[in-house]
Parts: sequence; C-alpha cells; structure tokens
Amino acid sequence: MDFSVSEELVMLREAARNFAEEEVAPHAQDWERAGRFPDEMIGKLGAQGFMGILIPEAYGGAGCNYQAFATILEELARHDGGLALAVEAHNGLACQHILIAGTEAQKQRYLPPLAAGEQIGSWCLTEPDSGSDAIAMGCTATRDGDGWVLNGTKQFITNGDRAGTYVVMAVTDPDASPRGITVFVVERNTPGLSFGKPEEKLGMRSSDTVAVILDGVRVPDSQRLGAVHGGFNDVKKVLEHGRVMISALSLGFARGALEEAGRYARERKAFGKTLHRFQSIQNKLADMATDVEAGRLLLYHAAYLLDQGQCSVQKAAMTKLFTSEMATRACMDAIQILGGYGYLRDYNVERYMRDAKLCEIGEGTSEVMRILIAKEVGA
Ligand SMILES: Cc1cc2nc3c(=O)[nH]c(=O)nc-3n(C[C@H](O)[C@H](O)[C@H](O)COP(=O)(O)OP(=O)(O)OC[C@H]3O[C@@H](n4cnc5c(N)ncnc54)[C@H](O)[C@@H]3O)c2cc1C
Repeated sequence: MDFSVSEELVMLREAARNFAEEEVAPHAQDWERAGRFPDEMIGKLGAQGFMGILIPEAYGGAGCNYQAFATILEELARHDGGLALAVEAHNGLACQHILIAGTEAQKQRYLPPLAAGEQIGSWCLTEPDSGSDAIAMGCTATRDGDGWVLNGTKQFITNGDRAGTYVVMAVTDPDASPRGITVFVVERNTPGLSFGKPEEKLGMRSSDTVAVILDGVRVPDSQRLGAVHGGFNDVKKVLEHGRVMISALSLGFARGALEEAGRYARERKAFGKTLHRFQSIQNKLADMATDVEAGRLLLYHAAYLLDQGQCSVQKAAMTKLFTSEMATRACMDAIQILGGYGYLRDYNVERYMRDAKLCEIGEGTSEVMRILIAKEVGA
C-alpha cells in the first residue's frame, strides 16, 4: 500500500490552487449573482491545460490521470462550484465519452478544440420525463439515408447554453431497451438544435443549465459515437467515472466549509472567548475534519483505481454517496458555526451548502447510489 503523492501531483495542486485563488475566488460571488461565469474563463482554463486534463497529448490534451483531474476539481470547487461543475461535465462526461467510444477520426476532429478551451462540451442524457430511469428516455434517432435525424428534449444540461459539442443519447430501437440506445455528437450550429431558458437554480448558479431541444436535427453517420443500439454500456462507463469525479467537487465544498468555519471560530468572540474555545464548536470542527479526511481517502483511492482500470460500479457509488452527503453536512455545520453571518450571502458558506446539495442529485441520486451499493452486499 502506497499513500505517497507524486511530486508532479503536488506541483499540479499548487498550480490549480493558485489559479483558483487568483482567477476564481475574487469573482465567485459576482458570477453567482450574475448566474453565469464569463465565457472567457473557458479559454483561461484551456490555457492551464484544465480543459483537456484526461485527453492524451496526441489530441492536444494534458494527458493526465484521474488523480490529477480530481485535484483540479477539488481546488476549483473550493471557491466556485458552478465553474467546477462546468469543468467536470466537460472533461468527465463529454470529452470522456468521446475518448471511450470515439473512432480515431472523431477524436482527431472533436478533442483538440475541446482540450484547448476553444469550446466547451456538454453531455445530454436526462430528459423531462427520465432521470434516474435513464433508459426510459424518449429522444429518438431515426435512420435517414446516410445519416440520422434526432428528435426530443434533454433536460438540466450543464454547459447546454454555450457548448460547441454535444454528446446526445437517443433511442434507435425502442423494442431493444436498454440496448436500443445510440449516442451521437451534435455540433452547435446544426439546424434544429435550440435551447431552453436558463434554469433558476438553488446552487451551482454560475454554471449554465438549460434544456437542449432537438427538432429534426440531422447528423451524418460519422457523428455516431459507438455502436448502433449499443450506446448504453458506454453511458454506464462514463457515469461510473463521472461519479468519482463529481465527488471531488463535494470534497472541495467540505474543505472550504471547514477552512472558513475554522478561521471564523478563531476570530469571533462570545462570552469573552473566541468560539473555538467552546467544546460544542470544537466538536463540530472535529467531525467536519474527520469527514473531510474520510472523503479524501475514498475519493483519491477511487481515482487511483480508475487510473488502474479497476474501479467498480459500487466503489464509485460509495465514493459519491459518502462525499456528497458529508459535504452537505459539513456546509450546514459551517453555517451553524458562523451563526447569523453564516446565513448571509456575504459569507461563502451558505453558497457552498447550496452548491453541495446538487452532488446528492446529479449523476445519480443518493437513493440510486444506495441501490447500486446494496446490490454488492447481496441485498
Ligand atoms: C444543476 C444540474 C445539472 C445537471 N447536469 C446534467 C447534465 O449535464 N447532463 C445530464 O444528462 N443530466 C444533468 N442533470 C440531471 C441529473 O443527473 C438528474 O436530475 C438526476 O439524475 C435525477 O434525475 P431526476 O431529476 O429526473 O429525478 P428522478 O429520477 O425523477 O428522481 C426523483 C426522486 O426519486 C428517487 N428515485 C428515483 N428512482 C428511484 C428508485 N428506483 N428507488 C428509490 N428512489 C428513487 C430519486 O432518488 C429522487 O429522490 C443535472 C441536474 C441538475 C439539477
């Protein structure tokens, strides 16, 4: 067993931390109020190599591993969940799907601009009437000469408003579910592609979330990603990886909550003492610190297993379940430690709590994670 962290990873963490402290932290509250981080951030992230973190160098990416990706996401989420979610959905879902299922020609065409931050990617699975039960999707793709015509609506799509490349799941054989699902790349300016209004969200407010509407969208067969009717296996693989990576956001929120509550407790006085002298405050901080440490071990072990090609569905589910619930808990405790100030928008902890809650829902809810874990223990 080797828990040591490579020198490369230490340097990457420092670079990601500096970037987050200088380019993200000062603006996070404004972006949240505006309901959007500026488009220019995508180019800035690209210049750092953060938009192609898992993409091999041959396609313009940084060619890093999952431990590196988790490190970057943790540092971004420490200051802005919405930006971190955008980077996670881009790298961990959209680019990842092209890497897993794409042909050589598709990788060469789509990955370089995504890796450079010239555009952002979007992954479109959920629909208005199908979320957890994803195979119940209604979006269809029908053969049309040498191509396909897509019709349907995708719901809650991160980066949906400003992506250049969309990875879209559609039913191609309704009688063969779940094998009747096929995946396509849809380029932004394709006729028939349009977007719903930006959703007003509880948290993750700097990320854009919209419905993606496909009305007679025609794509050539060269934009089919993976086998006809065989797309759902790739979807499951992408989700398994994504669930580990979204856990890095949870770790970032929990760490942020702990750091900010600890700092506040050392400064704020009540009854002639600083708060951190009170045992009930110490207990909260101790529980938060223990949770963060446990979450860190689960996350980085799962990321290590992904790097070895050995992460199981259950391990990914356990990691997401624990880190997401512990992050919400830690953020609620941080609000309590800050008292009335914790409830104000001027302080970050209420924002972290609202951001953290999404991680109990997106990429599979806690209820679904428990079902997956229970299967392993024979329930
Ligand atoms: C901000 C945001 C960003 C998102 N980004 C994306 C994206 O980029 N791409 C994308 O495809 N999707 C995205 N999603 C969608 C997200 O993945 C879904 O919301 C999530 O999978 C849950 O689906 P649902 O909302 O339809 O809830 P439902 O599936 O309707 O679930 C409702 C409730 O019922 C419970 N439930 C459902 N089935 C069971 C069961 N069998 N047993 C017990 N309980 C059950 C759920 O756990 C939940 O509590 C995003 C969502 C949000 C809010």
